Amino acid sequence: MESHQRTIRIADFELPRGAVTIEALMAMRRESWEHLRTEINLRRQVDPATPLARCRLCKSGVFIRAQAIKNDHLPMFVHFPEGSKDCPWYEGRNLRPDDARAAQYQGHQESALHRHLCETVEALAKADPRCEHSAVDTYLRPAIHRRGRWPDIYLEMGELGRFALEVQLAKPFAPEIAARHIHYDREGVRLIWIFNALEDPLPQGFHDVVTMQRGNAFLFDDETQIASIERGTLVLKCYLEDGEGGWLEPRLVTLDDLQTGGGRAAFVEDRRSDLLVARSKNCRTLWWRAFQQARQERPNSPFYSTAFTPAWEAVQAQVPGLDEWNTDFWTSRSDRGQVHLAMLFAILCSVAHSAETGTNCVYITKYSGEGAVLAMLNSKLSSADFKHCANLIDSFVRSTALADLADKPSFVRKVGEACDAEEQIASEHPIWQAIACLFPEALDGMVRAELSDLGRLPRWALPEN
Ligand SMILES: [Zn+2]
Repeated sequence: MESHQRTIRIADFELPRGAVTIEALMAMRRESWEHLRTEINLRRQVDPATPLARCRLCKSGVFIRAQAIKNDHLPMFVHFPEGSKDCPWYEGRNLRPDDARAAQYQGHQESALHRHLCETVEALAKADPRCEHSAVDTYLRPAIHRRGRWPDIYLEMGELGRFALEVQLAKPFAPEIAARHIHYDREGVRLIWIFNALEDPLPQGFHDVVTMQRGNAFLFDDETQIASIERGTLVLKCYLEDGEGGWLEPRLVTLDDLQTGGGRAAFVEDRRSDLLVARSKNCRTLWWRAFQQARQERPNSPFYSTAFTPAWEAVQAQVPGLDEWNTDFWTSRSDRGQVHLAMLFAILCSVAHSAETGTNCVYITKYSGEGAVLAMLNSKLSSADFKHCANLIDSFVRSTALADLADKPSFVRKVGEACDAEEQIASEHPIWQAIACLFPEALDGMVRAELSDLGRLPRWALPEN
């Protein structure tokens, strides 16, 4: 039986992510914790003295280990090797990266299959008339040589650009993946990892590569070899994540099909960011549709429309505690939680849509034209209904392209008055969490940071320059 190990209960990430408990980590979608794991490793390569995440108790840097369990991986926080052995959460023996790397790389470098695949891939790529230079296992830059970092296959493909192809048979080691990506990115060389097979379950090292390649996996096998000969250029088999833990039907692609402009890695389709962007909007879209319907049905009192009920239920399913709050709210204010949330939604949508379009669109109150958003916010902050949400509204506005509104003297005064008058809801409050579900790009630190890392924050949620 496995011995019971101590484990890091809370890791503090740099803001906006903040504290992440082990429970929260384990409840995350694979894509989310893999992104964190990758960001931690990238930071470790670039600035080892400033870890992205620290142990709550000893403050030393932590990484995310993917613990293999049957058919899956369980993420957990682990101290980096230099972390304090005296930390009450120190987990005992650690894998030492250098040993692990040496063992893995020696193993596969010597493999005859690996050598054969590298030479085959290079020969097929060279058949493309655009190929100006190619090499296997060498890269004529002393600085890189010294660090022992040269690609399996190096290609200069004219206008297509320069490529480093890594044929990966053994599972790659996470810090090495991050190091290579940073290195080639600086060199202006596109890095592509090529597998020979997709094991099921896929070892975490392969998952890490797929994370870097935004949900794309590239394979070279007999079928792609034949296709490469036929087409006179290197053909790879591209597997795209289906967003449900599996893969879409693979398709054959060439280097021409790769998107290489966005930094990070080359990929055919950004499966991770696109799905994250879409997921972020899911709940909001339900509310927006309900609001449109409500305005048609009851133009004078849309917030009392039953059109909001399915949208309310969708949030209810995601925010534990919303039910209980709803009951309390009724008792103390004789108003329905659903109505309250619908009004808050209209207030914040006014801010988001105005931020997106650079105009004043206001969906609640009668203000219109220049200054309408500020006037609406000030009037809502003065009303008894929303005084307890002043901090929430303030945080929201500050996370949008309209952040400067939050520094207007009238707004600052209204927020101050509301805070003096009423106890404020905080980020653990069900209403705050419900709003974070509807606008994760602004209020969910994890989602906001990931979108920002990937350059995919929507315009309305971009910090001002
Ligand atoms: Zn610690």
